Amino acid sequence: MEKTLFQKIIDREIPATIEYEDDHVIAIRDIAPSAPVHLLIIPKPVIASIDALRDPDAELVGRVFIVARDLARKFGISQNGYRIVTNCNEDGGQTVFHLHFHLLGGEPLGRMNSSAGSHVPVANAAAAPASQPRVQPRMLRDIALFMLVSIGLAVGFNAMNPKAIAWIKPQFERQTATQTDIDKYLQTAPPVPQREIIQQAPTAATPAENTVAASPTAVPSQAPASKADASQPLPTAVKTAEPAFSPEPGIIREITYDMFVRLLEGTKQYLIDARGADKFAQGHISGAVNFYGGEVQSRIPDLLSSVPRDRVVLIYCDGGECELSHHVADVLKQFGYGPIFIYTGGWAEWTSKRK
Ligand code: 5GP
Repeated sequence: MEKTLFQKIIDREIPATIEYEDDHVIAIRDIAPSAPVHLLIIPKPVIASIDALRDPDAELVGRVFIVARDLARKFGISQNGYRIVTNCNEDGGQTVFHLHFHLLGGEPLGRMNSSAGSHVPVANAAAAPASQPRVQPRMLRDIALFMLVSIGLAVGFNAMNPKAIAWIKPQFERQTATQTDIDKYLQTAPPVPQREIIQQAPTAATPAENTVAASPTAVPSQAPASKADASQPLPTAVKTAEPAFSPEPGIIREITYDMFVRLLEGTKQYLIDARGADKFAQGHISGAVNFYGGEVQSRIPDLLSSVPRDRVVLIYCDGGECELSHHVADVLKQFGYGPIFIYTGGWAEWTSKRK
């Protein structure tokens, strides 16, 4: 039969730090200590586990406890206290099938629980003196605090980041709209009086002057004119009993300039400028309401209370990837809003076309 690991240590075939030895018992330091003092007290006869003990072994086991008592005194842990554990078979967590007793101490060991006997190695432990600082519970608290602060910072940073990760990851399909889609909406949408679309030129004038629509027929901007105003909730929209369109779950359509102009002029729409308040104040498409896409996750109630459900929602931002527009669109779709179109050319294309 192959020798057990501890038999090999007893026979000096494997090195170990021996703290005590007589004819019947050997005590060594555990190679992966679970406490500042962690010794293994091993009866020399090969007995597989406590379950394999025979009645005549009683004296041997008693001897183990006397050795444990003396070692606890030697390592200065007898006053504060210590624990003696033996693991038996698989459920007991035994890994070396040569009876042995763990002597653990040098710090508060806590109450026994279901994980007792599983080894969580302690750095710099081995058979250190009992004066080892008792830092483990405080370390655990510090780690928990560090994790909480890290999570808090991550959540805060995410909320402020224009490219924030949405908490509920939407799975909305993004489609490029066709002229047929636009025709469909124009046919079913209630007609609106023809209105003039006015582009506010990005001049050096004051933001307030820039954001006021210049035509009496233009839809006045409801957007805040300055950054300070942007933090205020948007005005509550007038709700109608019946939506003009049946909601299309899961689809956000991207549209070209021509489609955008057709929808803008031919439907009862709600136009959202998803750029930041500064850019909005410098110039925006007349009638647009400013709702910064980078803040949408933290201002969902404001958004929902301001966007009417009976309109086609048109959204634009700078143009290109349209991240900010998509942030707004995704939230509206999550809350069951109807047709949503993103004008991908955005402010950049709008200004170049309108020169
Ligand atoms: P068990 O899991 O059987 O209750 O305990 C076995 C113990 O032996 C474990 O705490 C483990 O860290 C320890 N051990 C395993 N291999 C060695 C070794 O080669 N040398 C020493 N000193 N301890 C060992």
